Amino acid sequence: MTLRTRVVLLERILPPPRPPTREEVQRERYWKKIERRLIFLVQEAEKLLTEAESEQISAVENDCKDDRNTPFDGWLRDLQWGRSRLPEITGAVMKALVSGWFHSDLDSFSSVCNQCGLQYPRLKTPPPHTWKVLPGKIPRVDPPPWYDLPEIFKVCPHCGASARDVTYSHLTEDMDLPWKALDGWMRTRG
Ligand SMILES: [Zn+2]
Repeated sequence: MTLRTRVVLLERILPPPRPPTREEVQRERYWKKIERRLIFLVQEAEKLLTEAESEQISAVENDCKDDRNTPFDGWLRDLQWGRSRLPEITGAVMKALVSGWFHSDLDSFSSVCNQCGLQYPRLKTPPPHTWKVLPGKIPRVDPPPWYDLPEIFKVCPHCGASARDVTYSHLTEDMDLPWKALDGWMRTRG
């Protein structure tokens, strides 16, 4: 049997890999754009990180058993799944975000700003007996917020919308949100 025949026979048994669908090509294109923006922003943020902040990042990385599974990686996956958006943020905002994602006391849920789609980390809620009522507020009587809970971001670090005007990242998929009309989002439909 000639080598060519072997190849032809093989082709009969195994059809050549199918070309990517139009949708796959499109998704790849969306992701490449977001990835370019991400890489640029990571470089900008790295220039601004202090030594202490870099050490904090390394400490969380070292603590993490699976090094692709830090909250930062969770953010990247959510971006890829279209659960949030990467607006054109500044290097300073990226630095604050990166430091936030490597905070040692994060909640497993994260916030997505309902206005601009930026995803940012939340701190674990402390035990209720430690909550301090905000000055001048009466819980359940005055409009919320009532308690002074520790948060990394009290407002969206990009657009300034309230940190209460958010959706958990695992809940955004089926929602119509204004940021789904903007760039920097992995369009999941339309
Ligand atoms: Zn925002």
